[in-house]
Amino acid sequence: MTDIFGRFGIDRVINATGTVTRLGASPMETEVIAAMAAAAQCCVDIADLQGRASEVIAKCTGAQAGIVTSGAAAGLLVGAAACMVGFDPVKMGKLPDTDGMRNEFIVPRSHRNSYDHAVRAAGARLVEVGLPDRATACGVRDTEAWEIEGAIGDRTAGILYLARADSRPNLTEVVRVAHAANIPVLVDAAAELPPSSNLRRFIEQGADLIVFSGGKGIGGPAASGILCGRRNLVGSALLQQLDLDYIYESWQPPAQLIDKRDLPGVPRHGIGRPCKVGKEQIVGLLTALMRFTQDDDQARNKRLAIIADSLVHALGKVPGLIVRTVADSGHGGRPLVEVVIAPGENRPNALEVDARLRGATPSVHVDATNADTGVLMLVPTCLGTGDAAVIGTAFAAALTA
Ligand SMILES: *Cc1c(COP(=O)(O)O)cnc(C)c1O
Repeated sequence: MTDIFGRFGIDRVINATGTVTRLGASPMETEVIAAMAAAAQCCVDIADLQGRASEVIAKCTGAQAGIVTSGAAAGLLVGAAACMVGFDPVKMGKLPDTDGMRNEFIVPRSHRNSYDHAVRAAGARLVEVGLPDRATACGVRDTEAWEIEGAIGDRTAGILYLARADSRPNLTEVVRVAHAANIPVLVDAAAELPPSSNLRRFIEQGADLIVFSGGKGIGGPAASGILCGRRNLVGSALLQQLDLDYIYESWQPPAQLIDKRDLPGVPRHGIGRPCKVGKEQIVGLLTALMRFTQDDDQARNKRLAIIADSLVHALGKVPGLIVRTVADSGHGGRPLVEVVIAPGENRPNALEVDARLRGATPSVHVDATNADTGVLMLVPTCLGTGDAAVIGTAFAAALTA
């Protein structure tokens, strides 16, 4: 393999954290890379390509339509914009100024997260409802559907819903109260693949727009994602992302998504224009998506289990570590490796071990979310054969250093 990063004076890292953006997201399969390389060698009409992408995404998700975005967060931005402005090019041109528009997104308080900035970036205001007593261990409940219903008013543009294995209230109930008031539900399911059944699940539950990350479970390019759902909303979202340097008379937007008779003119470049998507990302994402739908969770978990076993084998030999494989509570139950740093004299704690691993050569990154409790997690998704031995050596050095 060419040492491409070495050419620029930087080292690759060993990523046992999972498909995180800060470490470059998922490594891609040869077939995906070949598709991107082929796409990079010629030109294509991007709008037409998105029209075809819509057909592929619709087939894989059961949604009416879909587009490739530059990530799930970009999908949240253009999706939120679509909910606020529809096919009105005057409103599109005003974003993120939403004065006088329906611009509020109701969100269960426990669903707030750092990525919802993308919804606000479109000009929306978030209206939090309910109390996450369940999360704070102060009670058994979370936000309930009637609280969302009670917050719907004439400024409401949509409901923002964060899909997690344990999200409350359940999506079907949220959809019921939203649709009774004619309000769309925008679902952030960025990291909810696998299980592959989730590709269809949120659509089946009635969500109007859903975003998935391309660079996480799907195994596509890091700067790619999917926005899928109702045709009109997806079409509006695409308009706000496309390059729109056209004359109305000769403009031929992709018929799968947009009927130009719905528009009085060609909108100006929209709020999503900075999130443009290249032909390589579109083709790479679609290739990865088709591969992902042909794979199954069990087969994928079996491949990951081989890497997890090699990690347990390599780390089990290091004194001071208690190592075991556990099943992820989400993500299709993929195998993870839990490493507990046993307390001991002169032994560094988990936070120190994490820092030493990152400082090693090559740098080793693990999931240190719960390091303060003495636990480091290793996610096998982005690891290759051979990485386990390097990680084992790095742990041994970190514990004795
Ligand atoms: C990763 C993530 C995102 C952002 O996805 P990108 O594809 O990197 O833009 C958004 N929401 C959630 C919940 C995520 O986990």
